[in-house]
Amino acid sequence: MSTAASAPPVCVLGLGLIGGSVLRAAVATGRSAWGYNRSPQVVGAAVADGFDASTDLTAALTRAADTDALVVVAVPMPAVDTVLAAVAEHAPHVALTDVVSVKKEVAAVVTAHGLSARFVGGHPMAGTAESGWSAGTAELFRDAVWVVTVDDGTDPGVWQQVADLALDCGSVVVPAESGEHDAAVARISHLPHVLAEALALSGAAGGDLALGLAAGSFRDGTRVAATAPALVDAMCEGNATALLATLDETLEVLRIARDQLADGSTRDLTRAGHKARRRYEQRERRPITGIAPGDEGWIERLRDAGRRGQVWTR
Ligand code: NAD
Repeated sequence: MSTAASAPPVCVLGLGLIGGSVLRAAVATGRSAWGYNRSPQVVGAAVADGFDASTDLTAALTRAADTDALVVVAVPMPAVDTVLAAVAEHAPHVALTDVVSVKKEVAAVVTAHGLSARFVGGHPMAGTAESGWSAGTAELFRDAVWVVTVDDGTDPGVWQQVADLALDCGSVVVPAESGEHDAAVARISHLPHVLAEALALSGAAGGDLALGLAAGSFRDGTRVAATAPALVDAMCEGNATALLATLDETLEVLRIARDQLADGSTRDLTRAGHKARRRYEQRERRPITGIAPGDEGWIERLRDAGRRGQVWTR
């Protein structure tokens, strides 16, 4: 178990909303932590805020290799290949994780760079519609869920390090296999983005009168459509297979609802939707107990616990 100063240092690659928040949260718990960003403006802002940041990726990674730091890849999916190429060149043996919203695609790129032995994927289920360093806070991950992957061959020591970072940031950990993570987030994150974009379009098509009448349901239903489009593209396109499956399922739900409405009733949709929402509201975060990383069968047992909605806590 980490708490703070005795835990490994943290090197964050990409100081946007998520990476900048990881850097702040790691420092707030007393960890040694530094970051890299390609933009001098972002690095200047981070340094002005009192953080250790640089535009020199090689130096950041060499320092990580020298100090056995945990390296956190916090760039959008299209930039992951470039960043991992640098990791493979300058710090090929470090403990490595990421925060990218899709997990199978990242794992494939990690493997292509020969970095899978000490890689454990991560995905903090926290964010806002803002982006960039200035949008980050040390509190962003407080009480959030942070997925830590349990794929075949996962190194238990690195898994513990990544889970400790998530816990240090104030989150609880849900263990999941990468493919199962991608199928789950297609439903609860990527599909909501697609539906929010479609709903925003529907409101705009109603012109100024419709938008002028819009209140809570429109605001809440379209909130994530305010996200930078390129970030949404990276999430949805990077998880296309799982997203297409859940989108087809939802189109079928809408088609049936449409036919039933044409016959005069929304009853089936509203009863089923209300029940499903209640299930979400009543879910419990029961702690995972009796499993330690490295125990016999720990990978399958943690996956099972994650499937049951259980969480890894301190
Ligand atoms: P952001 O736009 O706030 O920050 C992205 C950072 O990556 C910036 O610092 C940018 O300079 C850097 N970057 C972009 N292209 C780069 C390149 N080619 N080389 C080097 N650096 C590059 O985005 P964010 O919201 O912090 O997202 C970062 C990651 O976190 C993404 O992979 C995203 O999927 C994931 N994520 C986002 C959210 C969210 O709600 N925003 C939630 C969980 C995970």
